[in-house]
Amino acid sequence: MSARDPLGFDLVVIGGGSGGLAGAFRAAALGARVALLEPAELGGTCVNAGCVPKKAMWLAAELAHRIGQAADLGFDVPARPAFDWQQFITDRQRYIAGIHASYRKRLDAAGIVWMPQRGRLLDARTVETGDGVRLRARHVLIATGSQPVRPDFPGAELGVVSDDFFHWNGAPPRVALVGGGYISIELAAVLQSLGSSVEIHARSSRLLTASDAEIVEQLEEHYRHLGIGLHLGVEPAALERAGDGIVVRGSDGACRGPYDRVLLAIGRRACTEGLGLDAAGVRLDDRGSIEVDARQDTSAEGVHAVGDVTGRATLTPVAIAAARRLMDRLFGGQADAKLDYDNIPTVVFSHPPLGAVGLTEAQAREAHGDAVRVYRTKFRPMLHALADSPLCSLFKLVCVATGDAPAQQRVVGIHLLGEAADEILQGFAVALKMGATLADLHDTVALHPTSAEELVLLR
Ligand SMILES: Cc1cc2nc3c(=O)[nH]c(=O)nc-3n(C[C@H](O)[C@H](O)[C@H](O)COP(=O)(O)OP(=O)(O)OC[C@H]3O[C@@H](n4cnc5c(N)ncnc54)[C@H](O)[C@@H]3O)c2cc1C
Repeated sequence: MSARDPLGFDLVVIGGGSGGLAGAFRAAALGARVALLEPAELGGTCVNAGCVPKKAMWLAAELAHRIGQAADLGFDVPARPAFDWQQFITDRQRYIAGIHASYRKRLDAAGIVWMPQRGRLLDARTVETGDGVRLRARHVLIATGSQPVRPDFPGAELGVVSDDFFHWNGAPPRVALVGGGYISIELAAVLQSLGSSVEIHARSSRLLTASDAEIVEQLEEHYRHLGIGLHLGVEPAALERAGDGIVVRGSDGACRGPYDRVLLAIGRRACTEGLGLDAAGVRLDDRGSIEVDARQDTSAEGVHAVGDVTGRATLTPVAIAAARRLMDRLFGGQADAKLDYDNIPTVVFSHPPLGAVGLTEAQAREAHGDAVRVYRTKFRPMLHALADSPLCSLFKLVCVATGDAPAQQRVVGIHLLGEAADEILQGFAVALKMGATLADLHDTVALHPTSAEELVLLR
C-alpha cells in the first residue's frame, strides 16, 4: 500500500485476541503496514475469559488441595482454611492488566495502528470500523473468535455462561454445570475445591466424549471421589425456579437440585454476526464457522481467517501458530507455510489434569485394527502415597506395530491423567510428532523419582 494513503494497509486484522494479535505482530515484523480492530480488551477470550483467568482459578484450587495434603502429612493447618476469593481475584486481574499493558506497548513499538472499534467487511478489500471509517486492505484477517452457546430450552435465561463465572466474587454454595466438555469439567473441580458443592449434568453417557474412554473413566472416578455429582446420559431439558434456587429438569422428567447457580457450558459458536461476510463473499461451513482451506484462505480472495472463528482445533496456541504461518506466507516469502493440524497436544485442567496427543485407543483401533498395542500404568504419585490418598495417575501409550520389537512400534497416542500431566506432555508431544517408537522411549534414561519416568518405563 502507498505510504500516501493513510487508510490503506497491507493487512487489516479484525479481532485482537490470540490469533489476531499474533498475526498482526508477525506481519508487522515482516514489514507490513497493519491495522488491528478490537473494541474490547486486548487478548480476547484467552486473556480475559478463558485460559488465563481459568488457569489462575485452577492454581487456587490446586493450592486448596495441597493445603489438604499438607494437613494429612502433619502440617498444622486449620480444619477449614479460609480463602479470600476477592483478594485472589484482585491478584488475578492485576496479572491480566499487565498482559494488556504489554500488548499495548508491543503494538506501539511495532507501529501497528490499533483502533478500539468493531470491524465489518464492505467487500473483500474494504473494512468499515464501527465509527464509519473505511480502511483499504490488500489482505484481511478475520480472527473474531467464538462465544458461548445458550441452549434454547425453557428457563435457559436462569443460567449463566463461562464469561459470567469470571465475574463471580465467591464460590456459590450449590452449583450445577450443564455440559460434559472441558470447560464444564474444569470449572466444576475449581468450584468444588474452593468450597461449592457441584454437580455436572450431561446428555452424553460419559464426560469428554472426544477423549480416551479409559482415561475418562478414571477421571470420573476422581470426580466422584472429590464429591462432584455426575448426572450423565440424561439430556438437561429445562431450568426452573424452585424454592430458594434453580432446578435442572432432565429429559427423563426428573428435577435435580436446587442450585444457587447453573452454569451452562454446552459449546461455543463462531462470532460471525455483523461481519459483512456475504458482502465480501466469505462462505460459512455447516456449523456456522468460517470455511477455510489448509492455508487459512476463505472463499473470498485476500480474506483469511484463523482461530475459533474457523471452528478448527479451538485452542489459543493453534490460533497463534496458524496466524504466524499465514503471515510468513503472505509477507515473509514462505510460499508453503501453513499449520499442520495433526497431533496437536491438548490439556484439560481438570483435577488432576488430563493431557493427550494423537489417537485415542478407539481411534487407533478403527484405523489400524490388530496392529494396535496399548501400554498403560496406574500408580499413586509419591505425595498421594505419602498422604495415603487414593488418587491414582493413569498413563497410557497407544502404538501401531509392524512387529513385536519396540523399534517396530510407533507411538501414535499419549494419554496422561495425573499430577503434572499438563507439564509432562509437551516434550513427549515433540517425540510423537517426530515419529518416536517405543524403543526410543526405552532408550531414554528415566528421571527418578518422577511421574514422567513412568512413560519411558512402560513395557
Ligand atoms: C473458559 C475457557 C477456557 C479456555 N481455556 C483454554 C486453555 O486452557 N488453553 C487453550 O489453548 N485454549 C483455551 N480456551 C480457548 C481459547 O481461549 C480460544 O481458543 C482462543 O482465545 C481463540 O483465539 P481467537 O483469536 O480465535 O479468538 P479470541 O481470543 O476470542 O479473540 C477474538 C476477538 O475478536 C474480537 N471481535 C469479535 N468480533 C469483532 C469485530 N466485529 N470487530 C473487531 N473485533 C471483534 C473479540 O472482542 C475478541 O477480543 C478456553 C476458552 C474458554 C472459553
